Amino acid sequence: QQDFESRFRLPHITDIFPDTPPIPSTFCLKMRTPIGKDIPGHYSLDEEWHGYINNNDRVLLKTINYSSPKSAGAECIDPNCTWVEQWVHRAGPREKIYYKPEEVKAAIVTCGGLCPGLNDVIRQIVITLEIYGVKKIVGIPFGYRGFSDKELTEVPLSRKVVQNIHLSGGSLLGVSRGGPSVSDIVDSLEERGINMLFVLGGNGTHAGANAIHNECCKRRLKVSVIGVPKTIDNDILLMDKTFGFDTAVEEAQRAINSAYIEAHSAYHGIGVVKLMGRSSGFIAMQASLSSGQVDVCLIPEVPFNLHGPHGVLRHLQYLLEMKGSAVVCVAEGAGQNLLQNTNAKDASGNIVFGDIGVYIQQETKKYFKEIGVHADVKYIDPTYMIRACRANASDGILCTVLGQNAVHGAFAGYSGISVGLCNTHYAYFPIPEVILHPRLVDPNSRMWHRCLTSTGQPDFI
Ligand code: ATP
Ligand code: MG
Repeated sequence: QQDFESRFRLPHITDIFPDTPPIPSTFCLKMRTPIGKDIPGHYSLDEEWHGYINNNDRVLLKTINYSSPKSAGAECIDPNCTWVEQWVHRAGPREKIYYKPEEVKAAIVTCGGLCPGLNDVIRQIVITLEIYGVKKIVGIPFGYRGFSDKELTEVPLSRKVVQNIHLSGGSLLGVSRGGPSVSDIVDSLEERGINMLFVLGGNGTHAGANAIHNECCKRRLKVSVIGVPKTIDNDILLMDKTFGFDTAVEEAQRAINSAYIEAHSAYHGIGVVKLMGRSSGFIAMQASLSSGQVDVCLIPEVPFNLHGPHGVLRHLQYLLEMKGSAVVCVAEGAGQNLLQNTNAKDASGNIVFGDIGVYIQQETKKYFKEIGVHADVKYIDPTYMIRACRANASDGILCTVLGQNAVHGAFAGYSGISVGLCNTHYAYFPIPEVILHPRLVDPNSRMWHRCLTSTGQPDFI
């Protein structure tokens, strides 16, 4: 508690909560108590009970008590330990707020690639800020770039502007990679008088948000920097899932189903589907599990050979012999060791991957030609179609709650934090801790083994 409070509650400001303005009543739960225990379902309003989140409220991150360290898999780091306990801070409205709403100028920026739900989060941040009484809300266009590019002007935001933006995918504000230095961004924050910055983006964006927070602390600026993790890959540490992931899995299933129909309807048909997942195979694993139509699932965490007696191609040959068709689902970051390294980088400094889907398609065609067996190989890459979708119902709810809690966190006076779902509860996380490294599929986990059971694939090594 001490550590979190001293690190993230604007440490350079000593007079916390000088005179707390009243918090809007919509954030206060109205606790209802049973009128009489004999009449279940009848409640009266208890005015005494306030229902705000206390700064000491915590969420338990792990709830499994393993009967033996061996049943825990790789989750249990200490071999003698069967109980892993980690607590995080509960998100939500605080009774005391740090900013006077009339003194707030809030900005929202979306960076990196597209992800279903961006508009839902923008919308909810704006609506919640307005309920707190904030009048000055702006969007920074095209990611961090919008802070420095003189041709790009701030987008004024209000409930009226954002009312229906969640009905379409993409980002109202636009996204980009690369952009100005951290000190230029903070100069721009000062010039514009922004004291709340909501940053929607992945690990790169969060590294940027953390650096902006540190620079603001260094300059003793009263600015709350709050991250909302946007990663379709679901690769952020400590969180149950990130927004857009659910929608991505649902859409990925459609691509898998098309590949299955194509493969199934052709003589010796093979469908190859490439899905998102640079370092983590969550989308490929979940989509394979949910579709039930995948014979081979390949993810970055699990090495494989294409060629050789235990390789993927030999298994595809077996599948054609046994059932006449096959479907392969591969994550974009899988098998990169099989491709030539181009050393190319994008504007944000991320390594540009080789196309493993195309490679598998070509090698499969070559292999069957060489052994004189007919094979009809079709390749589907639905990446951009999935990223541009609007959020499904479950992601829509996740985005709504994340957006509201991002604003509550800023008003509580926190900075340098990110908001996420933890063990079905919403919590605030220190940014440095969630971006230490990408969250990976554990090859020793039950989930990966459930996936292997479902596809029926062997080890390809
Ligand atoms: P995605 O999941 O789509 O890749 P991302 O947030 O990781 O999202 P990036 O393109 O890597 O996307 O980064 C987004 C922004 O963050 C860019 O404008 C980039 O300049 C900035 N950024 C990336 N890494 C850092 C860093 N270490 N420090 C400061 N800024 C960074
Ligand atoms: Mg990234």
